[in-house]
Formats: sequence, C-alpha cells, structure tokens
Amino acid sequence: MPNSHAPKGTFSGDLMTNRAIDRNRDDGPILWSNALFLSLSPFLAASLIPIYLWNSGSHWALWVSAVALWLFSGLGITIGYHRLFAHRTYKASWIWRFLSLIAGASALQNSVLVWTAAHRRHHRHTDHEGDPYNATRGFWWTHMKWIFHSNDMADDFSNVPDLEADPLVRWQHAWYWTIAWTINLGVPLTLGLLIDRPWGMLLFAGLARIAYTHQATFCINSLCHILGSQPWSRSTTSRDSWVCALLTLGEGYHNFHHTFPADYRNGLRWFHFDPGKWVIWIGSRVGLTHNLKRTEAPIRWRKRLERLTERYQLSLELTAADAGHDWRQMIETARERVDTELTRWSQNLREYHRAYRAGEVTRSMRRSVRDARRAWRANWKEFLALGQALPVAA
Ligand SMILES: [Zn+2]
Ligand SMILES: [Zn+2]
Repeated sequence: MPNSHAPKGTFSGDLMTNRAIDRNRDDGPILWSNALFLSLSPFLAASLIPIYLWNSGSHWALWVSAVALWLFSGLGITIGYHRLFAHRTYKASWIWRFLSLIAGASALQNSVLVWTAAHRRHHRHTDHEGDPYNATRGFWWTHMKWIFHSNDMADDFSNVPDLEADPLVRWQHAWYWTIAWTINLGVPLTLGLLIDRPWGMLLFAGLARIAYTHQATFCINSLCHILGSQPWSRSTTSRDSWVCALLTLGEGYHNFHHTFPADYRNGLRWFHFDPGKWVIWIGSRVGLTHNLKRTEAPIRWRKRLERLTERYQLSLELTAADAGHDWRQMIETARERVDTELTRWSQNLREYHRAYRAGEVTRSMRRSVRDARRAWRANWKEFLALGQALPVAA
C-alpha cells in the first residue's frame, strides 16, 4: 500500500504533475464506443425523458422498474464485484455469487475479472503510477476519462488468480456481453411489452437507469477521493462522506474502506448509510453469506490514534515553537499509554477469540477483555482532553 501523498504546491507535488503529463502522453488511443456512450447517455436520458412524458404521460411501472433495476445493478457492483470478489470480505453460497455476477454484469462495467484486476491495482497503487483511476490526475480522469482510453493493463489478470480459478467467474467473463444485453435490453423490453410501453421502459429502466448507475459508480473513484473527511488515514486521498454514501449506495465511507479494505462494511456505525452492508448481513442471517470480516476494534482505534497524533503535531507546528517541546513530550507520553492499552486489549481479545473457537471461554477471560477495554477508554479520554488543552494558533 502506498503511504505518502504529497500536498499541493510542494516540490514533490510538482513532480507528480510532471509525471501526470508523461502519463497523459502514454495513455492508449481513445475507445470511441466508451467515450461516446458514457458522455452522451446522461444527456440523452435527461432530454428524452421529459419529451416522452410530455407525449405519452407517466406510468408507475416505468419508475418502479427503473429503481428496482438500479438497485439490482448497483448492489451487484457493491456487494458482488467490490466486496465479495475484489476484496473477499465475506463468503457466499453459489446462488448468491451467481446472482451477484448477473447483477454486476447488468451495470455495464465489464466482467468481474476485468473490473477486479483494475480495482486491485487501484488499492495497490492508490494515487500513484499504476493506479488506473489515480486521483492526482484530477476529477474527470478518475470519474470517467480513464475508461475512454485503451489500457495495456486491461487484460493483465496476474493479480486475480483466485478469480481465474473460479469456474463461475470464467463463465461470466466468457458470456459477459450476452448477460449484459439480456438484462439491459431483454428485461426492459419484456416489462415494457407487458404494459404496452416498450419504448418508455427501454428509456426508463434501460438507458436512464444505466446512465445513473454509471455516474453513481464513477463518483466512488472521483468524488470519494475529493469530498469529505479523513478520520482514519491520510496515506491516500480517499475520504469519508455521507453525501457520497447516498450517491453510491453506501460506498462513500471511502477513507475507512481504503484503510480497512478487508472489512465487509463501508459505513462502520449502524446509522451510516450502507445498504451493501445491510444486505450482506441479512444474507448471513438466512444462511446465504458467511465469514463476514470485521476489523477488530483495537486495530481501528490504533489508526484513530495515529491520525489524531498527526493532528496534534500539526497544531503544534502552527503555534509558537518555544511552547512546542513540553507539549510534544506530553503528547508522546499520552500516545504511548493509549498504545500500550490497545496492545493489551488486542492480545486479550485474541486469546478470547481463540478460546471461543475451542469452546473454552472462562469468566476471567471475559473480565480481562472488559478491563483492558476500560483501561484503554480511560487513557483515550485523557488523550482527547490533551487535544482540547493544546495551544491554538494565533
Ligand atoms: Zn478509492
Ligand atoms: Zn475497494
């Protein structure tokens, strides 16, 4: 994982811009089918829908079908392509995996093999050379321009051997276009014939729904690296934003996701908008999904500690230098105390989980986990109080 992101205006920031220019020269030729469809489809949908409504009037089935197919495609990408296949954040039954592949193909974002290979490169090289949607290349590049160009790496599946070994994935890759057209043309056409509005349904549940699903997914690569906060890490440009979460069916807590990509959740708290997380969890209740991976609390809190320490140090740099030394020492001492308690909490938890799997949990084990958590919390509160007491920049 990359661990440095040069701020704008610095020397290394300028170097980054120069490298971006070089890469522009190296981008493959434009794929006109991608460029024209992705650029024109939102405008076509936005202008044809009012004309259709003016001429033919509305019908509830048009709207309901468009929303239902949008949820089907969007969740196919989120819970299928992204969290199941690209990151392996949970395991699922055959039927769940099959439906995820059908739903993912209906979003018209290529086969899961191609999609995952690019996405794993995005995580491996975030914001650097080799990241297909490198956020340092600007909004439009990450939003959709990267798809306009052919890419030598598009057929490089060296980072997806696990998927290549999966017969279901190989089947979807071989039949991708057949599946995609069947859902995107066949289903709207059939529904349209049922209500005697084939063109209306093709427009609502076909073109408009596809255009919206595309733009919403593209926001994950563009907006989610620009808009919001970075509570977990500044090692990448990724950000957490509830606005992005609403737009992207719950993928907006992108800073959390880049910090803990193996977690099946994007929105950590119960009230964070993350339909993908809820559907996967419901799936586990009815036996369709299992082994849902969650990042342990002490690991998460250690990241928060690192992030807050950075903030404290930055605020000291902005205040008088002569007041700096003592504060630095106090921050370091308080940080070490929290760190020690996190290590103890983590060890106790690990022992508890080991015993739980072996059916040997004792009362004293439960107590030691609880005590370690309490000790961490007390030290964490002190660390937070120290932040309140830090000198403020004039
Ligand atoms: Zn990202
Ligand atoms: Zn990801």
